[in-house]
Amino acid sequence: MSKKLFIPGPIDVSQDVLNCMATQVIGHRSEESSKLQEEISLKLQKVLYTKNTILLSTSSGTGLMEGSIRSCTSKRAAVFSCGSFGDRWYKIGVSNMVPVDLFKVELGQAISPEMVDKVLSTGKYDLITITHNETSTGIRNPIEAIGEVIKKYDDVIYCVDAVSSAGGMKIEVDKIGIDICITSVQKALGLPPGMAICTFSKKAVQRAKTVPYRGTYFDLLSIYKYIVDKNYQYPSTPSLSHMFALNFQLDQILKEGLDNRFLRHENMAKTVRNWAEDHFQIFTNKNYLSNTLTVIENTKKISISKLNEKLIDRGFEIANGYGELKEKTFRISHMGDYTVEDVVDLLNNINEILEL
Ligand code: PMP
Repeated sequence: MSKKLFIPGPIDVSQDVLNCMATQVIGHRSEESSKLQEEISLKLQKVLYTKNTILLSTSSGTGLMEGSIRSCTSKRAAVFSCGSFGDRWYKIGVSNMVPVDLFKVELGQAISPEMVDKVLSTGKYDLITITHNETSTGIRNPIEAIGEVIKKYDDVIYCVDAVSSAGGMKIEVDKIGIDICITSVQKALGLPPGMAICTFSKKAVQRAKTVPYRGTYFDLLSIYKYIVDKNYQYPSTPSLSHMFALNFQLDQILKEGLDNRFLRHENMAKTVRNWAEDHFQIFTNKNYLSNTLTVIENTKKISISKLNEKLIDRGFEIANGYGELKEKTFRISHMGDYTVEDVVDLLNNINEILEL
């Protein structure tokens, strides 16, 4: 039986999008393929409010995280982490022999612009990473205020992991000054997993040119050059099926209207937050709440796995806490094409199961 997935990605994909995945394949060096990639790029530039080049990657988002820290760190990277996905950047840096330092805050708290300023003022770093929407804790980091700080440091590349927020929360890439903004398609964009996207600024291009060992598959400069020098091509064979589906889904997103889409996400978030306040407690610092997922403290000490088993019988699924927050918290996502009615339906089912 198919379920409604309220886990923070992947989420359900509309039948129309699934049908696009079944489009007959075209040659990846054809003009048709270039046109497809160009169309996708123009639409993504709208969704991400940027004029920067859009890079596609046939991988999940982690691939572009690896590509960005490896391709664009010349001196040393500063990773700011408020949870598991922030920590992932650090592990990626270390395993790629990128000089990197980790700066952490307590789980449930956000990275502050002051913290970033203090670290950058040492002059040791020329790339920083921030997780916009930390999927393990439900924090939305203040990427706009952090962007203001970074504007003081000309040589710093600003990388943002927007894997679980792009398409559901407004990210004005150019206004904020983000050099590399990464996302995956299986979350708020509402596609099956298997493709990742990032924006790539001129400054990032110049930096990558100075980095000698950028790897191969995730060498962002190579992906960029195929777009610029070869008219929207891709260095290897991309998932054309995803590209057909992404092109279609971006039309749907733009048809809905970006502001409407972001508001729908906000309204779904408010619905879940109100419910969480009534019956449990929100785990996350309330000044920095995500609009695509809510992390709830398990104040009633229920078995989250048992709740989920019962939900699955009813055709729904939510997510347990991530890593060390398992059973201590649970996560309800509200992203993609879901509506407030879908969320209310889920919450009513939880109420019935838990007799709330
Ligand atoms: N960053 C964040 C914030 C995420 O939520 C995830 C996936 N849960 C990732 C990175 C990794 O993305 P992917 O699974 O697409 O590689």
